Amino acid sequence: MSISKRPSHSGKLPSSNVSWRAFELLLKAAAMSIALSSGSALADFCESDIALIDSNFSGGNLGVCEFTTPTSVSFTITPEDAPPINPSAWYSFRLSPKKNEALQLSLTFVDGHARYWPKVSTDGTTWQRLDDSQVSISEDRSILTITLERRSDPLFISAQELLVNDDYEQWMRSLAAHPEVGSRTLGRSIQGRPIQALITEQKPEVVYLFGRQHPPEITGGLAMQSFVDELFGDSDLANEFRARFMLVLVPLINPDGVDAGHWRHNMGGRDLNRDWGPFTQPEIQSIKRLIDEIDEAGIAPKLMLDFHSTQRSRFYTQMPEDFDEEIDFARDWLDRARLRMSDFDFLYDPRKPSGQENTKNYFYSTYHIPAITYEIGDEVDRGDISRTSPIFAQEMMRVMLERE
Ligand SMILES: [Zn+2]
Repeated sequence: MSISKRPSHSGKLPSSNVSWRAFELLLKAAAMSIALSSGSALADFCESDIALIDSNFSGGNLGVCEFTTPTSVSFTITPEDAPPINPSAWYSFRLSPKKNEALQLSLTFVDGHARYWPKVSTDGTTWQRLDDSQVSISEDRSILTITLERRSDPLFISAQELLVNDDYEQWMRSLAAHPEVGSRTLGRSIQGRPIQALITEQKPEVVYLFGRQHPPEITGGLAMQSFVDELFGDSDLANEFRARFMLVLVPLINPDGVDAGHWRHNMGGRDLNRDWGPFTQPEIQSIKRLIDEIDEAGIAPKLMLDFHSTQRSRFYTQMPEDFDEEIDFARDWLDRARLRMSDFDFLYDPRKPSGQENTKNYFYSTYHIPAITYEIGDEVDRGDISRTSPIFAQEMMRVMLERE
């Protein structure tokens, strides 16, 4: 199925609760859109004699951009929906030079701040942090300025490296080649993209793993891939683990938001990790149907891990006293992992269950099992993610296999 790329903003009419500031921006954006493309959609490019800047690729979103001089560009980056929204300002665009000139890019975040340090890539595949000397951030973090030296080849500039729908499709296809794994389309997103699950052979106990409810949370996505690769490896531990536990994975829960370069929401204007209770969104409804089916088959959920990103790596768990067991799973797991990588900074962060309708609270309140939000820091070294995720996976498997 082919899905056409939406324009970089959805072109929605302002609703009554939109702030005046956002409304003014929408008007400005609408005026620019008419000027540039004479259509109703906002433009996803701007250009001068010196360069063309666009976001016409999966994950791309440049807000509104404008050349204020031939070599200076200002970007106004706004969230996909009116506030309140998590202030995780995402941006991702491609700069194609026409002339070999230095450029100054100024990104202004509306209702957000410079959460992500810019990453750059010449091919959209291999990324690196932009050098410190080329970036400055205002004291209130609302403006991020990038100075680019003369260049003649295109450059992607992005809040984080791109990890988009095609990447997941490729990765999941390789996992589905494993003889124990089946792939299943659970339903469709609002824009019609498949909500894809990988499911191993039926066993009396099941472990759930979820990812990318929040589009910009790349480090959680990277951690999940390395973690899952370890579970499907050919080690004795992994084989023993898969012989006992059924695995259900939904690694890309918000494919529309990922493609659109959203900060947080799906196309329904909802935070999917607040829909585990209301079940109003098709993405979460499709997963709920599978969970119900597994319940009806009498398979017992034993653990749920939900991969995310935040400022610092941390594991949000239940409190030890929330379980009857003598040794708390999360504490045991994370203590063992820490012994093997004392240099990796992460927090064991137990919390009392709250009324927040997220995956963690849903699985704990419904099944009384360890249900953990697995958060990796935004700027954690990517080599550290691929080094430590398999260790977290191994220790998870060990602890789970020791349990009744
Ligand atoms: Zn998140």
